Amino acid sequence: MRSDEIAAGLTEIDTRIGEACQAVGRDRGEVTLIAVTKTRPADDVRILCELGVRDVGENRDQEAAAKAHELAGLPLTWHFVGQLQTNKVRSVVGYADVIHSVDRLRLLEAISKEAVRQGRKVGCLIQVALDDDPSRGGARPADVLALADEVALTEGVWLGGVMAVAPLGEEPARAFAVLRDVATRVQEQHPRATMVSAGMSQDLVEAVAYGATHVRIGTALLGRRRPFVR
Ligand SMILES: *Cc1c(COP(=O)(O)O)cnc(C)c1O
Repeated sequence: MRSDEIAAGLTEIDTRIGEACQAVGRDRGEVTLIAVTKTRPADDVRILCELGVRDVGENRDQEAAAKAHELAGLPLTWHFVGQLQTNKVRSVVGYADVIHSVDRLRLLEAISKEAVRQGRKVGCLIQVALDDDPSRGGARPADVLALADEVALTEGVWLGGVMAVAPLGEEPARAFAVLRDVATRVQEQHPRATMVSAGMSQDLVEAVAYGATHVRIGTALLGRRRPFVR
């Protein structure tokens, strides 16, 4: 049964997070699992919720909006982890509790405007670019603090912290060390912005070693995604 498969995946990932914490002397309670449910049916999310998962992540608005709407009664925190275009902001603000991909002022302004209009408070993480590939999104490390200051001054949003995706073909530990430095600088100015969203199925151990508070796990939890195009 699907619920048995998911329960097994959850046990395994929980063990991996626990071991990663133990290896660096961190408390297991410091790390929250975000189940990345993109491409999975709403029923998978329902099962995760029954198994005690409270944080789910999605990266495409259309799909996320449909699931969040269908599952609106469940006690879930919805994390939007994908790149976000301003024309999708109205929809995303309608269901997302935390947006992990805030990387430019224009986007922040759009989120704020919409959050105020909808009477919502949306958590914002500054996505940090850890490589020079602009297609993957993120603010340059040197620009993060200024953007964080803006979030803190902006209506309708709260500053959660920082997020990053490890660059392809580089040591994740090295990238996450940069992220940790950025996170530390943000926290010096904004002590409550404690979230560090880093680590996916392949690199969660390194992310936890460098201070991740939120790991975003899809494949290792729910199995391999089927490709969209066959
Ligand atoms: C898909 C995705 C994840 C999860 O990746 P897995 O390798 O399946 O664990 C995490 N973060 C972001 C931004 C993603 O798009």
